[in-house]
Amino acid sequence: MDGIKRARQQVLEAGREMLKKGLVAATWGNISCRVEGENCIAITPSGMEYDILTEEDIVVVDMQGKVVSGHRRPSIEVPLHLHLYEKREDIGAIVHTHSTYATALACAHKHISPIVEELAQVAGGDVRVAKYALPGSQLLATNVVTALRDRYAVLLANHGMIGVAKNLKEALKVCEIVEKGAKITILCNVIGQPVPISFDDVQTMRRTYVTDYGQRET
Ligand SMILES: [Zn+2]
Repeated sequence: MDGIKRARQQVLEAGREMLKKGLVAATWGNISCRVEGENCIAITPSGMEYDILTEEDIVVVDMQGKVVSGHRRPSIEVPLHLHLYEKREDIGAIVHTHSTYATALACAHKHISPIVEELAQVAGGDVRVAKYALPGSQLLATNVVTALRDRYAVLLANHGMIGVAKNLKEALKVCEIVEKGAKITILCNVIGQPVPISFDDVQTMRRTYVTDYGQRET
């Protein structure tokens, strides 16, 4: 199987998972991943329901945003995805959701502190809020890259959130954990004040998560 076909399948699968997990409604949100061995990305099309998408609906664009394969219009957030890939070579996949609790905090312009361990592990620290800019704009792309910096998740003011990782499976997990972290943050604020994990402990957990977590192949 070639890289383009594989990337299209992975984007398709992640879209269905994102919908199943309740991280988006209808056609909102978007997903992309790098195409292995090629200087291009596979991305969801603009305004199509995730559950009816087929492999052919996934659009392949080059790093200048030109469609190189596919007959659909790509997501309007192509500039945002491309800017992230350009600035972060460690990123292989991007998932953008409008999940409820993360969006609630994004609308209040409140960041998520690393208050739970799994959030510290996958996000690598607090989840900052990128300044508001219109969807699809180059300014949104700039604001997101600025706020994300060295992290793996970022909130988009009055909009939603983004999870990034080396692959789509991991990026989707980041979005799920951030949504859970956002929910816990809101609940914590109801009963008291959230107490973040120390910077050093967050760093240690992130390192352990990246190098030692899970089952290792022998
Ligand atoms: Zn959006």
